[in-house]
Amino acid sequence: MDQGKYIAMRRRRVKRLKRMIIAGLILMILIPTALSVWLGVRLHRTGNALSEMNAQYESQLVLNEELQQRLRLFMELASRKGTEDVDGTPEIEEVIQSEPASDDIRRVYLTFDDGPSINTIKILDILDEYDVKAAFFVTGQNADDNEDLYREIVKRGHTLGMHSYSHVYSDIYRSRESFAKDFNKIRDYLTDTTGVTPVYYRFPGGSSNTVSKTDMKELCEYVEENGATYLDWNISSGDATNPQISVNRLVNNCMSAIPNHMTAVILFHDAAGKDTTVKALPQIIEQIQAMEDTVILPITEDTVKIRHLETETE
Ligand SMILES: [Zn+2]
Repeated sequence: MDQGKYIAMRRRRVKRLKRMIIAGLILMILIPTALSVWLGVRLHRTGNALSEMNAQYESQLVLNEELQQRLRLFMELASRKGTEDVDGTPEIEEVIQSEPASDDIRRVYLTFDDGPSINTIKILDILDEYDVKAAFFVTGQNADDNEDLYREIVKRGHTLGMHSYSHVYSDIYRSRESFAKDFNKIRDYLTDTTGVTPVYYRFPGGSSNTVSKTDMKELCEYVEENGATYLDWNISSGDATNPQISVNRLVNNCMSAIPNHMTAVILFHDAAGKDTTVKALPQIIEQIQAMEDTVILPITEDTVKIRHLETETE
């Protein structure tokens, strides 16, 4: 082999080698990049699915609590009545709270849990339109995006209540200490943000929830001893369900239950995604306003306290 041929062959080999190295490098960059993108997309989707599942879990908890509460009351009523037949929920509701009918005026309280969110402002506008005041039991979740909404609730004359800062059951109900920590966090936060110290508290899941690892009576007492009053509800609008119920069902749930109470406290949710609540609200207000001797009021110190669980001190 002569010198020239040999050199040409070596060059070709070097060239081939170079191409292979470059191709290898490109592959080493491309494959991980493609993988990262793919994993990123998967992660995002999983994240979305997770938060959706979390929301559903919360809804199920509330529903579960309500069912258990009904069952307890049902059994209590059954034992009181002895062998008599027990039927109809109106009587059961009476056990929740004896409602003094001092003036024959039915008082309806619209209460909204889990806000503020994008839906809160829509609800505030509806309430303004009908000149109605309500109570908002808010959390500190997503507080940064919603700072103005806390102030707006107060500014428009509604009752601003607490509904825990984190709304994470496993956290706030772990112990009296962790509850106290969360309680003070939401109260301080709302005081700093709105200039008004909130005095009403609604327990996530209600005072009768069975998720709490701490005795709820103890936590009820804590709230009362720390300058606040806890309040529950006696009518569930049903908007905690997921997937959402229809506007008609929501309206019917409220309107069929109101006649059973002289003090009717309706539980709604103004969390993001509770669009049915926003859609049903005008009809509900109109129908209540059309009822005789019935008024819609904000919660004040004169309001009859509707509670699932009473403290010993009461
Ligand atoms: Zn809640």
